[in-house]
Amino acid sequence: MPLVNFPPTLLPPHLIELRNEVREFVHQELSDKTFQVTIDGWLSGYSPEFSKKLGRKGWLGMTLPKEVGGQGRSPLDRFVVIEELLAAGAPVSAHWVADRQTAPLLAILGSDAQKEKYLPGVIRGETYFAIGLSEPNAGSDLAALTTKAVKVDGGWLLNGRKIWSSGAHFCHAMVVLCRTSPLDTQNRHAGMSQLIIDLDQPGIDIRPIHLISGEHHFNEVSFEDVFVADDMVVGKIDQGWQQAMGELAYERSGPERFLSTLPLFTEMVRLVHQRPNPIALQAIGRLSARLLSLHQLSLRVTGALSRGESADTEAVLVKDVGTRFEKEIAETARLIFNAEDFDTDASTLNPYQDSAYSDFYQQATLQAPGFTLRGGTNEILRGIVARGLGLR
Ligand SMILES: Cc1cc2nc3c(=O)[nH]c(=O)nc-3n(C[C@H](O)[C@H](O)[C@H](O)COP(=O)(O)OP(=O)(O)OC[C@H]3O[C@@H](n4cnc5c(N)ncnc54)[C@H](O)[C@@H]3O)c2cc1C
Repeated sequence: MPLVNFPPTLLPPHLIELRNEVREFVHQELSDKTFQVTIDGWLSGYSPEFSKKLGRKGWLGMTLPKEVGGQGRSPLDRFVVIEELLAAGAPVSAHWVADRQTAPLLAILGSDAQKEKYLPGVIRGETYFAIGLSEPNAGSDLAALTTKAVKVDGGWLLNGRKIWSSGAHFCHAMVVLCRTSPLDTQNRHAGMSQLIIDLDQPGIDIRPIHLISGEHHFNEVSFEDVFVADDMVVGKIDQGWQQAMGELAYERSGPERFLSTLPLFTEMVRLVHQRPNPIALQAIGRLSARLLSLHQLSLRVTGALSRGESADTEAVLVKDVGTRFEKEIAETARLIFNAEDFDTDASTLNPYQDSAYSDFYQQATLQAPGFTLRGGTNEILRGIVARGLGLR
């Protein structure tokens, strides 16, 4: 049996139609100027109106079972929809985490009350979730987390601090991984649980962490004696580590791990087509080959997941290669044009006056350092691949 396995996956014809439908929708929205193309739109492009439109189209909660209000569609259907939205730089950050991982988590492990409370809003594009994993002293070594919940009458009292919480300032709730039993140094992964925390309660402080550009995506979120009712525990008490790792499979395998800078690449191709030069053409050829390969690999991982096969090592491999690719687009963008070509103060000299290239390039450069960190750093991913290959 091969140690890594990327079985070929063909998109059925109805998904070609779905892809065209999403393309037409995005094209219309762009013509109507309802959104501005954003680099890294799944982290930076916030538009509740756009999220609600996707909900009305039936493009959120697509893979959730019909019993909970979803459409019971295949992960391949969702793959096609999100690939088109990401490639277009659509503003999808508001609902991204809720649609990608929280809703599937709740559909499998949530109580009936949790499903009723949260899933309809996620499917409509109105309820947003944040991820509460990282802490100031627990990132790659997540098992070092110290946020803890202590049992009280009818629920739990939560104290601690989460950091780098993307979008917590606009999210309605966060799934927090915390200790619910004392640390066992022989088994550090035991004794953790996942709690749903509505973020509008007393005792919660959400402080912005601004990027160097002044933009605000991240937050530091502290919890001081926050009461969490028993029915806000997801799945089983003390099984949180295994549950959170299952969630990471959704987080790591998708096309957002190689398409974050695609609008910059598309613009690069358009400009080089106008004024071809051998170095730029060579770079575009190289990046295009990698883009097509990543599309195939990511599709194959999604195909495996849709057949219920495990693809943990393969997903991690795609994320490692994919996040380096999206960074490389930004680096290549810097090399193939002269900055003066985009000098808006010298508009008579500017051959690319109407191009968004310079703007996209700046956004991509600012976002790129995070690509290989978020969702697990590439160094950590390589350790997982080594384990998958039986090398550790
Ligand atoms: C854009 C972005 C969005 C994020 N959003 C969220 C979010 O919404 N919710 C959330 O909980 N977290 C979020 N994170 C946090 C992210 O998960 C962490 O940054 C990541 O897990 C790394 O943890 P750390 O920052 O503490 O770095 P550290 O763990 O301190 O690592 C620092 C460096 O040391 C390396 N390193 C660490 N341990 C090892 C090892 N054993 N072997 C080799 N190298 C090692 C790492 O690869 C890294 O290069 C986000 C991060 C980014 C950049």
